Amino acid sequence: MKYEPVIGLEIHAELATKSKMFCTCRNDPEETKANVNVCPICLGHPGTLPVPNKAAINEVIKVGLALGCQIALRSKFDRKNYFYPDLPKGYQISQYDLPLCEAGKLTVDGRDIRVTRVHLEEDTARLQHDSKGSLVDFNRAGVPLLELVTEPDITSAAQAKRFAEELQLILRYVGASSADMEKGLMRIEANVSVREEGAKKLGTKVEVKNLNSFKTVERASEYEVRRQSEALAHGGKIAQETRGWDEAGQKTVSQRSKEEAQEYRYFPEPDIPILIFESQDIENLKAQLPELPQDRRARLRREYELGGEAADLLVRDKALGEYFEHAVSELGEDLSPEALNLRIQLTSNYLTSDLLGLIQSSSFSIEDVKITPENFAELISMIAEKKISTPAAKTVLKEMFGTGADPSHIVEERGLAQMSDEQGIRVILQQVIRDNEKAVSEVRAGKEKAVKFLVGQAMAQSKGALDPERAEELLRQLLS
Ligand code: ADP
Ligand code: ZN
Ligand code: MG
Repeated sequence: MKYEPVIGLEIHAELATKSKMFCTCRNDPEETKANVNVCPICLGHPGTLPVPNKAAINEVIKVGLALGCQIALRSKFDRKNYFYPDLPKGYQISQYDLPLCEAGKLTVDGRDIRVTRVHLEEDTARLQHDSKGSLVDFNRAGVPLLELVTEPDITSAAQAKRFAEELQLILRYVGASSADMEKGLMRIEANVSVREEGAKKLGTKVEVKNLNSFKTVERASEYEVRRQSEALAHGGKIAQETRGWDEAGQKTVSQRSKEEAQEYRYFPEPDIPILIFESQDIENLKAQLPELPQDRRARLRREYELGGEAADLLVRDKALGEYFEHAVSELGEDLSPEALNLRIQLTSNYLTSDLLGLIQSSSFSIEDVKITPENFAELISMIAEKKISTPAAKTVLKEMFGTGADPSHIVEERGLAQMSDEQGIRVILQQVIRDNEKAVSEVRAGKEKAVKFLVGQAMAQSKGALDPERAEELLRQLLS
C-alpha cells in the first residue's frame, strides 16, 4: 500500500510596526535589554484598556489582499483564554470567527494552496529558562502577530517548505514583516497526515510545533510522513497529537495528546469595538500593494529573457532585483536588441554569481554595496565590448566592491585594458614560448592541455589583459 502526504500549515509572523498591538510601547525585536518596552496595558494590569493599532490591521489586510483573500468588512477581536506565565492577562487577544481575511490562495510550483484565513492577534512574552528558574521578558508581549492558516492542500514536504518561503517573500514585499525565521519573527507549525493513495478521506493529523527554519519544516514533515506511513503499513493507528522537532535526533517527539487539548473558551473582546471597513478602505490598501514576487518573477523572465534560476535569485533578494533593473536601465540607449540582450544576460550573470559571491563572503548586504548601478553597467559594457577580458573583469569587480571606484579608472590604473594590438600580444607570446620549452614541445606533440597552459602563462604575464581567445589563435599560428 502506498500512502500520500497531506499537509496544512499554520504560520505566525511578527509585524514590523513601530508600536505594539494595543499600546504605544515600541515594537522592537532587536531590543536586547529585557522588560524595557512595557507598560500597564501590555503587562496586563487590571483596568487598562487596549486600543488597536491601525497600522497592524492595515498590514494584515494587505497580506490578505496579496493572497487574493476576501477581506471582512466587519471583523472583531476575541479573547482566547488560557493560563501560562508568558500571557500576563490570562488570555490572548486574537480573532476567532470573524478574521480579517478569508479564502485566499498561494500558488506554489504550479499548485494552488488555499489559504483558509489570515488574522491578527498579539504575541506572548518570552520565557527564559536556566538552572535557577525561569525569567519572563515582556518586550514581545502585545507585539502584533499575523496568523495564517492553510487548507490541507499541500502534498509534499518540499512543497510545504516552498509555501513557507514564498509566503516569507510576500510578507517582505508587502512590508508587513521581515519574517526572519532565525530571529523567530516567522514561526511555523505543520499539520501532517497520510492517506492511502487516491483515498478521499483525510487521515488523522499530527501537529508539529515550533519549526524555526525552512529546512526543519521540510525535515519534520518528511519524518512524519515516513513515521505515519510505516505505522499504518504495519497495521498501526495514528494518534492525534502535538509533536515537537528534536533537532539533535532529527525526529519528531510526542508532546501532548488530543485528550489534553485545551478548551480556550473564546468570547468577543468586550473592550474593543467591532471593526468596520468601507470597500473604499480596502481599495485604498490594495492600491498600496507593490508588485508581488510571483508577478515580478514572471515579468523578469519575460522582459529580460532571464532563466528561471536567475529570475528566482533576483526576486528572492528584492534589493538585488531592484539593483539589477537599475543597472540594466544604465546599459545604454543606442544598442541593437541583440547587443542589449547580451549585456542584460551579462548583468544578470555578474550580479547573481560574482557580485552575490562577493556579498556572501563579506558581511555586506546589497544595500551596503559601494558599486553604483551606473558603474556596474559600465563594467558590463566594457566586458561586452571586449575592452577587458573575463579574468580582468573579475579583478575589476573585486576592486570596485572594495572601494566603489569607477571601473574605467581601475582598468587604467592597473593596466588591465585588453590588449588588442597584435604586435603587443605577439611579444608576450614569444617570451612565453622562450620560457616554456617543455610545454612548447608538448603542444607540437599534439597535447591540447599544453596550449591552455601557455595561454594561461601569457594571461598571467599580461595581468589578465590579453583576450585569451585571440592569444590562443596567435599562439597556434606561432607554433605551427
Ligand atoms: P484543529 O481544529 O485541530 O485546529 P483545523 O481544522 O483548524 O484543526 O486545522 C488546523 C490546520 O490543520 C490547518 O492548517 C488544516 O489545513 C490542517 N489540517 C486539518 N486536517 C488535516 C489533516 N487531516 N491532515 C493534514 N492537515 C490537516
Ligand atoms: Zn505596552
Ligand atoms: Mg483550528
